[in-house]
Amino acid sequence: MPIATVNPATGETLKTFEPHGPDEIEATVARAASAFREYRTTSFAERSELMRRAADLLEKDRDEIAAIMTTEMGKTLAAARAEAAKCVKAMRWYAERAEGLLADERVDIADVEDSGGSRAYVRYRPLGVVLAVMPWNFPLWQVVRFAAPALMAGNVGLLKHASNVPQTALYLGDLFRRAGFPEGCFATLLIGSREVEGVLRDSRVAAATLTGSEPAGRSVASIAGDEVKKTVLELGGSDPYIVLPSADVAAAAKTAVTARVQNNGQSCIAAKRFIVHTDVHDEFAERFVAGMAALSVGDPMREGTDVGPLSSEQGRADLEELVDDATARGATALCGGRRPQDQPKGWFYEPTVLAGVTPDMRIHHEEAFGPVATLYRVPDLDAAVDLANDTPFGLSSNVWTSDNAEQHRCVRDLQAGGIFFNGMTASHPAMPFGGVKRSGYGRELADHGIREFCNATTVWYGR
Ligand code: NAP
Repeated sequence: MPIATVNPATGETLKTFEPHGPDEIEATVARAASAFREYRTTSFAERSELMRRAADLLEKDRDEIAAIMTTEMGKTLAAARAEAAKCVKAMRWYAERAEGLLADERVDIADVEDSGGSRAYVRYRPLGVVLAVMPWNFPLWQVVRFAAPALMAGNVGLLKHASNVPQTALYLGDLFRRAGFPEGCFATLLIGSREVEGVLRDSRVAAATLTGSEPAGRSVASIAGDEVKKTVLELGGSDPYIVLPSADVAAAAKTAVTARVQNNGQSCIAAKRFIVHTDVHDEFAERFVAGMAALSVGDPMREGTDVGPLSSEQGRADLEELVDDATARGATALCGGRRPQDQPKGWFYEPTVLAGVTPDMRIHHEEAFGPVATLYRVPDLDAAVDLANDTPFGLSSNVWTSDNAEQHRCVRDLQAGGIFFNGMTASHPAMPFGGVKRSGYGRELADHGIREFCNATTVWYGR
């Protein structure tokens, strides 16, 4: 895939970039390794100061970087601005809390006496150079939610961003440099996915994190496994959105629209499968379909647009294939199911709700990465939980119910890294984020996220 900015709203190639060659890759890895030797010894106070400066710079650049993101991958300008603001918040969150999150953990003296020790504690030390392979869909946020904790822990980062967001990738490398992080602490490698293996196998690289598709995750994890290097994988999702009779159905339907089409439907934690109890199914369906059909699809730069284009022509073709396969096998599009007639250029797709989906259809098991929802009717909670778990993924889940017993049952039985009641899944610096099953492993954000790339070192003293 060429490294280029191609505007998905018009299909026009705006800028192409020469990928970094072997010499540049070598120099960047060498600078990172050398930076780590010094940077690991800096204090939390020094790192916080740098991270706060990076946050301030990003806050100032918000409108400029938001416009770049919208041009590169098509999210609405309002969503891009909100993404930049969320990054600022996460950077400040870690700047303020990293020291506390990584404070030495005392081991109770009574517990170590029989080991002959007088005291012991756990020290969280950084691992080293961490390679981050990142996707285009939240081109700032995905990187910042790795970079903020990793840098605050004393690691250094190498970013291999998606090939369609090179300007955002270069902006990020520049941001940390401008904030005063020492040379090499965070650098962007403009490379294609084929170059990832060489970087990952380099003995100066300690670990890797990948957010993206299952095949990319499998490839990076197998190489890292071969090299015995730590990985965190944040992969796809096909999150269920369960609505039960005690729910506020109007609120559930309104939130369902946002939960499905946020980021033009291209979010790993978007609700994708809507599983509704038969008692409230028809009311929910009517409201949900009306909400989806009323969305304004068009130029993501324009104020008032709800849904922009998909990020690539291939992305739209993949989505169309899933919908066409389902309708050919008997599913019905209650709205959408095609390209908008008034958008001849760009990679737009109408918000779509599919009913009558059955397990023989690809969309029942695969992730629909675009504004397409599947709607199911279930007779009871047992059937809802079974259907929710009938997927290879396990990223997050959403349940609308005010019944305590039903909530407990869902917390016990839903196979996912998150369960959100009476709302929609969202990521937040204070809450761990990640999945189970084919959605990956490891956690980002919160204390879990900052410890992923730390060496939890046991320190023991004899008598
Ligand atoms: P993708 O193709 O896997 O791309 C993601 C990143 O991996 C890009 O930087 C890509 O580089 C690189 N890559 C692709 N194949 C690779 C390989 N074999 N080896 C090493 N690197 C490789 O993902 P996408 O389809 O663009 O993004 C959408 C997917 O990401 C969806 O499945 C979505 O659910 C998932 N996602 C998950 C999360 C989460 O937190 N769980 C968040 C956002 C997105 P190139 O661009 O150069 O190919």
